[in-house]
Amino acid sequence: MMETRYGNNNKSKMRIILEWQCELCGDNQLSDSIRTHHMDYCKCGESALDLEDGYQRQFGKIKEIKRTIYKEESDNIKDLKDGTK
Ligand SMILES: [Zn+2]
Repeated sequence: MMETRYGNNNKSKMRIILEWQCELCGDNQLSDSIRTHHMDYCKCGESALDLEDGYQRQFGKIKEIKRTIYKEESDNIKDLKDGTK
């Protein structure tokens, strides 16, 4: 049985990691939906992104680089340290 569920239509939580870049200053940022009501600002402060489970709010010039979605039950979430560089 195939079901595609995104957003907040159900109880199962997802964690979304979005890697983005400010097109104005070229700063790379990582936004994490686990931090609710948290705006991630780039270096120059012109771009910011608030990533939540189900929606995102952004302003400035944001270029999406990579979006990763983790299911809460997935083991992958443990691998997700911010020391990937
Ligand atoms: Zn910037």
